[in-house]
Amino acid sequence: MAYQPDSNRYESMTYNRCGKSGLKLPAFSLGLWHNFGGQDTFENGRSLIRRAFDLGITHFDLANNYGPPPGSAEENFGVILRKDFSGYRDEMVISTKAGYGMWAGPYGDWGSRKYLFSSLDQSLKRMKLDYVDIFYHHRPDPETPLEETMVALDHVVRQGKALYVGLSNYGVEETKQAIGILKDLGTPLLIHQPAYSMFNRWIENGLTDLLKEEGVGAIAFVPLAQGLLTNRYTNGIPGDSRALKPNSFLNEGDVTEEVLIKVRRLNEIAQVRGQSLAQMALAWVLRDQKITSALIGASKVSQIEENVTALNNLELDKEELKMIEEILND
Ligand code: NDP
Repeated sequence: MAYQPDSNRYESMTYNRCGKSGLKLPAFSLGLWHNFGGQDTFENGRSLIRRAFDLGITHFDLANNYGPPPGSAEENFGVILRKDFSGYRDEMVISTKAGYGMWAGPYGDWGSRKYLFSSLDQSLKRMKLDYVDIFYHHRPDPETPLEETMVALDHVVRQGKALYVGLSNYGVEETKQAIGILKDLGTPLLIHQPAYSMFNRWIENGLTDLLKEEGVGAIAFVPLAQGLLTNRYTNGIPGDSRALKPNSFLNEGDVTEEVLIKVRRLNEIAQVRGQSLAQMALAWVLRDQKITSALIGASKVSQIEENVTALNNLELDKEELKMIEEILND
């Protein structure tokens, strides 16, 4: 049967302004790094996108290399767009990135103008789109002059192939310089995409303050530490979990007793709040309005449903924050 989006989809989601731009992003966005590749079940990915959209998730995050094989998540997403969302492009914010190794030779990696232009053209072809909403440089390139990369971002916007630009995995100093260059070029940086979760707090050392000062949005990737900050691993490692999948960046060896001790203690606080650990971990990421959107991943529709319900209780009081801090510092 043809997909008909839920007519109440905008009622329960919160939309946060992205820095000082005109664009609002949902408090939760969906990433297609895992579970949408050529080796995954297409119909599962399709149902994840449909359910996310029904729940008010308007933002879908991709990259040239998501798969495996690289490029296949964009291809599959393009098919899903054509099958289910042909009338809804203007209700969606679609992002992609280039910056990691994508094809052989010296022009398929890092941050040259040559690579960024070709990669975005390839991404648009795979998704069968005229433009993406946000085009990111995926990681800083220590060899290419920052000006070259930023001018390339400015030019893809002027060509109409992206509406906004973003940076991912850039440190504080590099971000500061990039913000200055982009401002002078007339294409202000819309958003930064860093890793951020209870288990990875590097952005608290200057990045979020800089972004706030400069009016740049922040979207936190891996907010659940790839599933560690949920109840997924509290009773062993399930056969269908990411930790047991080949080609994944989470391994069995990451699920240590040390991690699980913290997870169980955090879960006790979540239970008192009447939430799951995943919900509390997401509320924590969004706790002080410095993060525009938490960029979640999911392998099951039920995970998206559970995670979005965090919106019912985002407030963490001082006592809860103190207890969480103690557990994380132990
Ligand atoms: P998360 O930290 O949200 O982890 C998602 C995984 O956690 C799911 O696949 C699932 O694991 C598990 N999970 C999610 N919700 C629940 C739940 N309620 N209960 C139990 N388990 C749950 O993020 P991801 O690692 O998926 O990354 C999210 C997105 O961030 C990516 O898709 C990508 O868009 C972006 N990203 C960007 C990077 C960058 O360099 N810019 C790098 C990495 C990610 P399982 O599969 O085992 O069920």
